[in-house]
Amino acid sequence: MIALGARVGLRSLQRRSVHAAAGAKTTKLFINGEFGESQASTWLDVVNPATQELVTRVPQSTAHELEAAAASAQAAFGEWRRTSALARQRKMLDLQQAIRDKTDVLARSIVEEQGKVLGDARGDVMRGLQVVEDMASITHYMQGTRLAVAADMETYTVREPLGVVAGICPFNFPAMIPLWMFPVALATGNTCVLKPSERDPGAAMLLAQLCNDVGIPRGVLNVVHGARETVDFLTADARVRAVSFVGGDRAGRHIYERATQHGKRCQANLGAKNHAIVLPDANKEQALNAITGAAFGAAGQRCMALSVAVFVGGAQAWIDEVVDRARALRVDGGLEPGADVGPMITREALARAERLVQSASDEGARIALDGRGVRPAKYPRGNFLGPTVIDRATPAMQCYREEIFGPVLVCLRADSLDDALALVNANPYGNGASIFTRSGASAAKFQADVEAGQVGINVPIPVPLPMFSFTGNKASFLGDTNFYGRSGVSFYTQLKTVTSLWSKADADDRQATVHMPTIH
Ligand code: NAD
Repeated sequence: MIALGARVGLRSLQRRSVHAAAGAKTTKLFINGEFGESQASTWLDVVNPATQELVTRVPQSTAHELEAAAASAQAAFGEWRRTSALARQRKMLDLQQAIRDKTDVLARSIVEEQGKVLGDARGDVMRGLQVVEDMASITHYMQGTRLAVAADMETYTVREPLGVVAGICPFNFPAMIPLWMFPVALATGNTCVLKPSERDPGAAMLLAQLCNDVGIPRGVLNVVHGARETVDFLTADARVRAVSFVGGDRAGRHIYERATQHGKRCQANLGAKNHAIVLPDANKEQALNAITGAAFGAAGQRCMALSVAVFVGGAQAWIDEVVDRARALRVDGGLEPGADVGPMITREALARAERLVQSASDEGARIALDGRGVRPAKYPRGNFLGPTVIDRATPAMQCYREEIFGPVLVCLRADSLDDALALVNANPYGNGASIFTRSGASAAKFQADVEAGQVGINVPIPVPLPMFSFTGNKASFLGDTNFYGRSGVSFYTQLKTVTSLWSKADADDRQATVHMPTIH
């Protein structure tokens, strides 16, 4: 039972209702293995971005509920940390099967709340599922090292969980990003309080249900809701030892500063501006198709979306062919067959993207394809922006300096690979960058000199699979230990070293020594 909590204000949120309307569906809390109705006084509407229909109401969890979640995770830690890596491995194997079986249910929930097209929503689930699959290797990840350091004496390492950890998620990958966090936290023996995005918490709730179904013990995973108040609780509560955050720059900086000031580990993946350099020796068809898919897929709402293309020399003549491909994409509701580009998450996000397109025009760029005003016949009220291509942009323009996070490709022109590289490296963000070329030498130079943390060579969205880690850098990342893979395991664990002496002469050590021990 989730008890009555304190009244928590949420002045900063626009879409709010004072009471959950009678009969409206509400998103539950998941605390101590139970799905419970919040006693919140403030509720946030989740609307289908294609139709504006109310999907659910999300509570701003009360102070009492947040306390209950942290207490539940703390109480569960004692036993969960003592389970064997093999037992946790089996839970990961069961969970991956449960997620696989429910992929379509998860994907449809994502389409309804987030808007992306169904095939892409399945990809959202699959990329998260791969992290769970990788965590089935936890028996390898947790292994330590051992060395005989002197006669009869050895030192060995033990990798131990931290305790209660928190995850704070963005709206754009409602399944994948929670799955970057809690499976790694749980497999390493931690317990977790997860806060999904208040704009689309449905997939995270389904994942919590699946954890319950496969018998992950109560309290090991808890899900709370809300916005800043919830975040401020998780980043300050003394029981929370580490915070994983994925989202925008403003929230990320606040969370990183607050969590680290409170002595917590923090890993924070932030915003991005990902560039593709297109050399004239590239395979044109492959490059232009890849760029079109990576710029406009998920309506550009991917942290690794290709939002900038730098066309070098003769490749500049191809810009209008990108426009042709972008124009051919079908803008529609995510469940419609053949839909390529769904709606943006909110009206505010759409209005901001439209403003940035207008600013490009005002600052002298050429709007080679203008998606403003595109409205699919069946979804006249949706937050749609058709694919938009801005040509002849410059680094000084607002459309280049800011992350648009919509289906907008900003095109720049450069005379040489060196000029293009200088441009990419001058950008403060460092999430990803790609090159399209048939020249091994150019690719090698790009790979060596580019400062972005995830590099694609003829690959438009080089997000590493979970046996590697997600390695954004520069302004796209705060912290020093990346998400998932070996780094993710390091983030959620600490090493203990043990030095032991088991003398072969056994218990009859004849003489005590008063000297400081030294090892030879
Ligand atoms: P967001 O920053 O608005 O929200 C992310 C989380 O932070 C949410 O849970 C939200 O409740 C919370 N939050 C928002 N404002 C807050 C505040 N002022 N104080 C405390 N908490 C706050 O991000 P979003 O719009 O949901 O997601 C889009 C952003 O996420 C984009 O910038 C995108 O590049 C980034 N992103 C980055 C990666 C990556 O791996 N680098 C991946 C996905 C998304």
